[in-house]
Amino acid sequence: MADLKYKVIVGLEIHVQLCTKSKMFCGCAVEFGAEPNSRVCPVCLGMPGVLPVMNKQAFEYAVMVGLALNCRIPMFTKWDRKSYYYPDLPKNYQISQYDLPLSENGYIEIPLESSQTKRIGIIRAHLEEDAGKNLHATGNFSQVDLNRTGTPLLEIVTEPDMNSGAEVRALAVELQRMVRFLGVSEADMQKGHMRFEPNINLIITRGDGEFRTPITEIKNLNSFRALERSVNYEAQRQLDEFIETGIVMEMGNKTTRGWDDEKEVTVLQREKEEAHDYRYFPDPDLVPVELTQQWLDEIKSRLCELPLKKQMRYVQEYCLSDYDAGVLTADRSTADFFDEAVKAGGEPKRLCNLITQTGLKITKEKNCSINDLSVTPQSLADLAKMVEDSIISAGSAATIFEAMVETGKEPDVLAQELNLIQKSDAGELEKIVDTVLMENPQAVEDVTSGGKKEKKAMGFLLGQVMQKTKGQANPKVVSEILAKKLG
Ligand code: ZN
Ligand code: MN
Repeated sequence: MADLKYKVIVGLEIHVQLCTKSKMFCGCAVEFGAEPNSRVCPVCLGMPGVLPVMNKQAFEYAVMVGLALNCRIPMFTKWDRKSYYYPDLPKNYQISQYDLPLSENGYIEIPLESSQTKRIGIIRAHLEEDAGKNLHATGNFSQVDLNRTGTPLLEIVTEPDMNSGAEVRALAVELQRMVRFLGVSEADMQKGHMRFEPNINLIITRGDGEFRTPITEIKNLNSFRALERSVNYEAQRQLDEFIETGIVMEMGNKTTRGWDDEKEVTVLQREKEEAHDYRYFPDPDLVPVELTQQWLDEIKSRLCELPLKKQMRYVQEYCLSDYDAGVLTADRSTADFFDEAVKAGGEPKRLCNLITQTGLKITKEKNCSINDLSVTPQSLADLAKMVEDSIISAGSAATIFEAMVETGKEPDVLAQELNLIQKSDAGELEKIVDTVLMENPQAVEDVTSGGKKEKKAMGFLLGQVMQKTKGQANPKVVSEILAKKLG
């Protein structure tokens, strides 16, 4: 067994709930946590004789994601019925898209360690409706809540291009950031807005050949942690199983497993259905969607600079660290605020420090977005400029930023009020320097005679001037005066 090597192969299916006000094919509100079965109507309940009508917004949101995933967007797409019977699906079929999805053949770049990225293929992304929820809360019976029935879901299917739990997680996180930037989903994991189903197997090479283990699909994961851990667990389990039994992939031996979050193991659920089990056929109640170039262009115009691209631009253009660029692009409002402040003339690195160190500390405390603070990008740029121009010290900038949030006043006003303006008047500072030099002849001697004490003595004299001015002297100007006077 010493020569055994293996590679983990993972493809991912992701369901993303789109943040439309109403459902996919009826006017019911999409609302989390409402009274059970209070957001339903004959259409989403699947009563006989009703007619579904497509939610245009949901379709446009889906196309936006398709475009962001570099997919081909066909001009013609249609709806199909996927038949299956389950208590949370009273009409016995789900409206989905089978052979003509609204987008296909794209890719997404995901960030890996040390600024590297990897391209993961996207097979397709299509629209469908969600099912209801079975509740098993009390007694020896189950209940069903159909409020979620008919909620628009975007199903995204990737190529099996990922090779570790960490890569799968990176894709999931990047996708969350992307749909949030696009404003098409809240992508709140706690509310089940993103659900993941990884397909995993191994390619094992050994002295006697190359082997592929049977594919397993893990159903319905709704956290990044569970996603990553279940993939890693499953890879190890398949390896152990192969070594023990020699089982390899064949037609029909794909299985479905569930993730037990407590025990951190996957559990066999069932043999996988094939597509023909769902008896897909075109939905006779819905007209196909025909895009026009004008409509597609209009949707395209709503795209924004995507987060990973933005993050890489910050690193290249502004020389920010990958970490800082990642913090600024973690959400759209922070990135937009930063972009605006740079446009308003602030130095990017300075603005980055102010936002990531002071701004995000405040927003975390207040549990709000940076736009909710009464500070405009222009005011923050002005504050950054005051540091660049040595009007205030870098340390004072944080104090003033906090005061700006509290008072809504402009930075120059606050610098005055808080007495934080640095003394840069050379004439005034020269007098103070003279006094310090007179009071400290030994330090002066150490500097003028050169030698190893020079640097330390110079620092001491600077410190004395800062102390006499209560820290308000501009250290750069003081250093210049000291250098001039002491040769
Ligand atoms: Zn409805
Ligand atoms: Mn689906």
